[in-house]
Amino acid sequence: MNEEEARAKILRFAKRQREHNFPCPRCGEWKMNEDPARNALSRRIDVYVCDACGLYEALEDAIGEKQPFTSWDIAKRENWPL
Ligand SMILES: [Zn+2]
Repeated sequence: MNEEEARAKILRFAKRQREHNFPCPRCGEWKMNEDPARNALSRRIDVYVCDACGLYEALEDAIGEKQPFTSWDIAKRENWPL
């Protein structure tokens, strides 16, 4: 999966993120609040991530680095629970 495909997969997931409780699309951990809006909004793309990932992205911005979307758990796993 290339960067553009990973980005598209995340955006497809974002449309359904409110339907159920899902793991964090960035780290894959089941630690999202059931109400998506009570999680962190990613600084990279319009999707909610867990608080830890939200903090990680803020730290990345502080040092001027960004992980590619291909490194996100949702991009690496074929059996993402949708
Ligand atoms: Zn996370």
